[in-house]
Amino acid sequence: MDTISNRIEVHDRDALDTARAVLDACADAHQMGEAVKAAVARNQAWRGEQCINLLAPEAPTSPGVRALLAAEIGTRAAEGHSGRVNRWFAGTRHIDEVEALCVELLKRYFRCSYADHRLCASMIGNAVVYTALSEPGDVVMTAAQPVGGHSSNRADGPAGVMGRKIVDIPFDPDELVVDVDAFRRFAPLVRPKLVALGLSMTLFPQPVAEMKQVIREWGGRFYFDAAHQLGLIGGGQFQDPLREGADIVTGSAGKTFAGPQSGILVWDDPELTERVTHAVFPVWAATHQVNRVAALALATAEAIAFGRDYMAAIVANARALARALDERGIPMLGATKGFTTTHQAIGDVRRFGRGLEVAQKLERANIIVNKNLVPADRPEDWDFPGGIRIGTIEVTRQGMGPGEMAAIAEMITRVVVRGEEPERVRKDALALRSGFPSLYYCFENGLPPR
Ligand SMILES: *Cc1c(COP(=O)(O)O)cnc(C)c1O
Repeated sequence: MDTISNRIEVHDRDALDTARAVLDACADAHQMGEAVKAAVARNQAWRGEQCINLLAPEAPTSPGVRALLAAEIGTRAAEGHSGRVNRWFAGTRHIDEVEALCVELLKRYFRCSYADHRLCASMIGNAVVYTALSEPGDVVMTAAQPVGGHSSNRADGPAGVMGRKIVDIPFDPDELVVDVDAFRRFAPLVRPKLVALGLSMTLFPQPVAEMKQVIREWGGRFYFDAAHQLGLIGGGQFQDPLREGADIVTGSAGKTFAGPQSGILVWDDPELTERVTHAVFPVWAATHQVNRVAALALATAEAIAFGRDYMAAIVANARALARALDERGIPMLGATKGFTTTHQAIGDVRRFGRGLEVAQKLERANIIVNKNLVPADRPEDWDFPGGIRIGTIEVTRQGMGPGEMAAIAEMITRVVVRGEEPERVRKDALALRSGFPSLYYCFENGLPPR
């Protein structure tokens, strides 16, 4: 076994060792399959039924959406653009129906002229935009990670590896918005072909119109990566980048949009349509998981019916949770500006250890958050950043409101500030969670009772 233990693994070596031991102990491949199913069931029992899940980039999907993810249509091959001639494969008549419904539903929710549904991840959407709207050697301005930027728009993501030159968008670390004055001075010096504004840490609206005004001078394009804010935008609870001058918007379907994890592209300018759709296929997607497309279409119909109410409740809960935490001694970002206008609340936990340690302690209490860079961190602090990020997408869909946010803040404070044993707090987390067994803002259960 020496050869194995000496191998360089990027994944956690202990986890792989454990998996090997599990497989070695199985009598046959059938048992190996059962071991996989058992791990999935353990996750469902713990994360699905016993945790207060406060991860900002995940969302619970409705029973209908989940059922479609397992539908027969997901076993069918369909690549390329819809239509009898476009398709390579015969037999796609009903798949075309489903895909066209998905596109038209997306256009309705986002009030836009064009939409693409074939991105197996929002990350792929970013790659599509870079392919369609820029070339190797072009300057692209994007936000750095400590102020919320995402690797997909940085040197180590699709833009960087495709040879785009990444230059930082100037950011005001106190206001947590783009520093427009600095942008006005600096952007003309590098004349970016594309400005890509994508923020995984997102509390406040950004000056999209002002930035577009600046880059319009040399024909620069504005790309808003709304991975996180997508549902909020469609539900009218955040700025509307397309209306403010963005040329194209991408987003994750599995964050605030609360559909199946994947990506969405929306835009209005007919001039972009051919370039963008051809960057989707044949460049970045072939078979694009039609079960996922069907689930996305249903999630979009849900968003049309319930999105406005759901997204408003998410933001109200995030604000209530941030305020409650701040009042209890955890310094929250954006305190002078009402804490947040999104689904996120960001805590600066440097005085309580660091983000990793705090998140791990909370995990022992069945409260799930993530470590997060804060503006005071350096990019090198990636593994041990000073903050935590908290999101309210799931607890809101379970029907929790501001009263429950105060209860959650109290539990977090007991662990983080008062140093109480997480296992003691876990009892209370379990009790709260078990009082909210259903999901709302979906056709099965409608709006939450209250
Ligand atoms: C999450 C995120 C992405 C990637 O989205 P996936 O759907 O996970 O591929 C891209 N950009 C930003 C800003 C993000 O936060």
